[in-house]
Amino acid sequence: MMIAHPGSEVRVLIRSRPTANFAQELIEYLPDGQTVSVHQRKDSRKGVVNNQLSSWSFRLDGVLHDVSQEEVYGRVGRGVVLGALEGYNGTVMCFGQTGAGKTYTMTGATENYKQRGIIPRALQEVFHEVEQRSDHAFSVHLSFLEIYNETLVDLLASVRGCPGVGPGGMAVVEEAGGGVSVRGLSLHPVHSEEAALNLLFEGEMNRIIGAHALNKNSSRSHCILTVHIESRSRTLSDAKYVTSKLNLVDLAGSERLGKTGSEGQVLKEAMYINKSLSFLEQAILALADRRRDHVPFRQTKLTHALKDSLGGNCNTVLVANIYGEASQIEETLSTLRFASRMKCVQMDPVVNEHTDPVLQVRKLEKEIQLLKQELSIHNTLANRMGMSYDTLSETQVAEIQSQVRRYLEGSLDEINIVSIRQIQEVFAQFKQAVQQQEQKVKAQLCQNYTLVEKAQSTAGSTAAKSQGSQGTVGVVEGHGFGVGLAVPSDRHIRLLSPGRTKAIKTKELASQGRKEAVEGRSPGPGKQVESVNPVQRDREGREHDTQSQEPQGPQEPLRTDSPPPKAEAFEDFKAERGSEINRILKENKVVLLERRARLRELTECVNTAKREIDSTSTALHQWRDKRQSQGQFVSAEGVPVLDEAELSLTLRLRELKTQYRQQYEELRGTKAEVSYCQHLVDQCRTRLLTEFESWYNESFLLPEEVQAMLRSGGPIRPGLVPVYKALALEEDEQEHFERLRYELLADSPSAISFYNAQYRTVQRRNYSKAMSQTPVQKTTPRGSGRTKLPAILSVI
Ligand code: ADP
Ligand code: MG
Repeated sequence: MMIAHPGSEVRVLIRSRPTANFAQELIEYLPDGQTVSVHQRKDSRKGVVNNQLSSWSFRLDGVLHDVSQEEVYGRVGRGVVLGALEGYNGTVMCFGQTGAGKTYTMTGATENYKQRGIIPRALQEVFHEVEQRSDHAFSVHLSFLEIYNETLVDLLASVRGCPGVGPGGMAVVEEAGGGVSVRGLSLHPVHSEEAALNLLFEGEMNRIIGAHALNKNSSRSHCILTVHIESRSRTLSDAKYVTSKLNLVDLAGSERLGKTGSEGQVLKEAMYINKSLSFLEQAILALADRRRDHVPFRQTKLTHALKDSLGGNCNTVLVANIYGEASQIEETLSTLRFASRMKCVQMDPVVNEHTDPVLQVRKLEKEIQLLKQELSIHNTLANRMGMSYDTLSETQVAEIQSQVRRYLEGSLDEINIVSIRQIQEVFAQFKQAVQQQEQKVKAQLCQNYTLVEKAQSTAGSTAAKSQGSQGTVGVVEGHGFGVGLAVPSDRHIRLLSPGRTKAIKTKELASQGRKEAVEGRSPGPGKQVESVNPVQRDREGREHDTQSQEPQGPQEPLRTDSPPPKAEAFEDFKAERGSEINRILKENKVVLLERRARLRELTECVNTAKREIDSTSTALHQWRDKRQSQGQFVSAEGVPVLDEAELSLTLRLRELKTQYRQQYEELRGTKAEVSYCQHLVDQCRTRLLTEFESWYNESFLLPEEVQAMLRSGGPIRPGLVPVYKALALEEDEQEHFERLRYELLADSPSAISFYNAQYRTVQRRNYSKAMSQTPVQKTTPRGSGRTKLPAILSVI
């Protein structure tokens, strides 16, 4: 058996046609049965007559000299045919000059059974094997293609029932997966050797008739008989099946143009043949060169049609037919050279395996059935009765759902594992529960936050408009602290639906409070924490109790949780609802600090200048006093003159004063900026805190009356610790409230009303200050520096 092994080369054998005039002195078959040596006299036609011989040696896969058709089939065809039955594509191809025995090798003498060639023997073998391999179901089809002058001809088109060529004519087409097929070429199913031979003879006949009708020489065309084989295993419920193509190719004669002295149609034929053979050679050479990834198969119909059957992943055997007469030595050499080039092509045969989807499903169904049976046996052995492995019914799913709900609520301790399907459903129900919860929370949050955003944007634009109309925007922005303008109005708080905010925030913050209680987190150093007195806690608790008796939605039970400490709630508020105002506050603070630093610098400068002025002026006065005691200098004209030291002191004093004035003006501007920034920071902080207070009260179930009071700016009831004291305030925030002297009041409940009053006053003051704020301008000194110098400034 000669099926090629992966990585082996194309097999090339030489077959010589018997002749009475065998050129013994020129052609020598070496005893190894593989090598042919050719000795050629130097061309005598060129006038140089000598007996010098040139020798060439060609070592191939075998020399078939005086070998029967049967043996030729055995050495050339059988391996490829058997390979095709296994699913490998295969090609047997004869080439050589006209009359060298290609047709004899491929088809043989049709009238003589013994002398039949590779094709009828291959067909016989195919059907013989099909019968033998009863474990596989084979289907065999034949096609017979002739390529004449680059035209494709279907040699089996005459067969009855043949569909005929479509409108597009015949063409070689590439298929998905790298295969090729000839569109329009008829495929004939065959079930027996006889039927196959009938088609072969019909095709041969058509080839000859066609040749006569068109006055063409049958040896001038390429012929490809293809046996298409498909095989499926009968025993296994295997969805896999294999296909293959066995190409049996009789090439046109390879003789050279010059020799025949051809003209007209013959010349044309020869040109086409030469062209296709030379492209065949190019394709073969490209295949032989492993570095090349492009093989020019499409240059001619022949190579294109044989694209998936030359070298590469299929079995290829070539027969080089030679005519061993001295007169044919040139052709013989040419054929042998071609043969040795072909030998270099590497093969890596691959089975064409496919999967039948219908069969695959059937196979899997069977397997499932079998496994179910196995499981039921297993259950019986393990004493597990009544197990079902089918898809869960609606009732079963509902039961699992209720189990999961009970488990989540805590009324069910565990869920017993029963089957994979049940486990999967349990997980699915958990997931569903989480998703539903998530959706609810999201929907509620969305509703609130959309309102807030809308309110904020309206508030922002209104604020900008109103400030703009006051003419302060330009100046403020010019100094880089226009951020204060974006402070959202407290209006948006009122746009919120208090009930919803309450529910969500209570839940969120209460759960956070719980978490922190569990973690035992203590406030950071230096932070103040609200200490809720027992009375207050009790009161709030009662409020919650009365509320919980009212009809409530699914969120309501969470309200019974105690509100989170204000310090933590404030952190949350700053991170979420109050994030924008908090950001603005921070930005304003940065600007404020920067302006304050500048102010300190300038004060320092101004004071230094002032000291220098003073010392210079003292020095001048002393000098003048001294001079006066010595009498006055006068010029020749009697005009009093200054001496040099006095002059320099006077000039220095003037210079210092100019410098002082400039610095002082800048100082004044900066001072105005600082106070404006301070105002913005205060305003932001106040807003942040008021908003937090409203939010906290609304969110954490203060009685409606208190909320109403807060909204109307009314006094806060004793017992409600002001937010400022409850919060962990930043250092400068504390400083701010120290300035406002709130700290004195916090510990004493009797001070609450005082605190409320003062707080509202501060608010009003801040507001009126903001309204009356005049544009801050960096004014240039008016007049010519005659302004009176103020006393030394204290450093801020
Ligand atoms: P090709 O197809 O290459 O043109 P053929 O196969 O037609 O050549 O052969 C030309 C002639 O030589 C035919 O009459 C054929 O019977 C004869 N012939 C070729 N090879 C052999 C062989 N090995 N034994 C006997 N006769 C042969
Ligand atoms: Mg022939």
